[in-house]
Amino acid sequence: MTHRYPSYYDKFRCIADLCPDSCCKDWDVVVDSGTEAFYNTVQGELGDKLRRLTVTDEDGDRVFVLQNGKCPFWNSDMLCDIYTELGEEHLCRTCQNFPRITADYTVFAEHTLSFACPEAARLILAEDNAYAELNETPDSLACEDYDAELMRVLLAARKKSADILQDRSLPFARRLIECLRLNSELSDDLNGADTPVITDNEAPRDIGFIFDFFDTLDYMHADNKRLILRGRAIDNSIDLTPYDGLFERLGLYYLYRYYLNAINDGDVLGCIRRMICAYLVIGHSLCAEPKPDPLLLTQRYSKEIEHSYENNEELDFAFAADTRFSAQSLISVLESIT
Ligand code: SF4
Repeated sequence: MTHRYPSYYDKFRCIADLCPDSCCKDWDVVVDSGTEAFYNTVQGELGDKLRRLTVTDEDGDRVFVLQNGKCPFWNSDMLCDIYTELGEEHLCRTCQNFPRITADYTVFAEHTLSFACPEAARLILAEDNAYAELNETPDSLACEDYDAELMRVLLAARKKSADILQDRSLPFARRLIECLRLNSELSDDLNGADTPVITDNEAPRDIGFIFDFFDTLDYMHADNKRLILRGRAIDNSIDLTPYDGLFERLGLYYLYRYYLNAINDGDVLGCIRRMICAYLVIGHSLCAEPKPDPLLLTQRYSKEIEHSYENNEELDFAFAADTRFSAQSLISVLESIT
């Protein structure tokens, strides 16, 4: 198996107590069985606490019980008691891995970082031309887990989509339109042309419906919701080109993190629609006064929307059932701000 990495991957180091939004809060920590077996042997106060605060959740996973929305081992110095007392090698796999993400495609694996980690997000936004290694097509894709020819098509389409997203002769909204057109045609080829057709009169010209939809999603924190939706009142006569660099890197992150999921169901549009929703919602909210920190807003969006299983289900449902999220409709919205 070959392993492929974006150029920022090896630069990541957890900044621990300097982190502005730790992964030690809000999220359940799933404890793998090997680590739990070791924790059962730990003596003293920490061992007692490890055993007392590890429970089975509704999915059957063994997790630490959060206290006030925080990992119970995250101390008042914003450091991890397990790391400090037992060493990094005795963190559970969840904590050892995050924010590193591995997508295993049997004959090759792609490694990325999660944008929900502020330090990873900073690196992702800082790096130009980060994905060259992921564009190489493996010599052989033959395996029993998927259709090798479909994987070849997806890798080529992802590369083409990346080239479009990096075409700096165009404003980023126009690049998104071209990327959406390319993938809409590919989706029709792969899945049959059952794209819903809407009339010009039905085509939305503003993004009010997207903010209405995002208002119904599930948020861990009300202040994150306010931050993400603060652009609701901003109309489409905005100039997002000053943020083209940020959105180019965010778009590439979406592409290299999610596009190949289409190997399972041929849904190449799911990744592009998510990218466009992020562009429109974050873009409008960046323009609301007082202007927020772009890194903070994009990272919180990732944590609340991209990393929520429930919100992703809602997005999939809306993409399938609501014609306002069709390619034609989203092109109409994007055209109104170019
Ligand atoms: S979110 Fe990232 S930088 Fe912050 S504590 Fe977690 S791994 Fe470290």
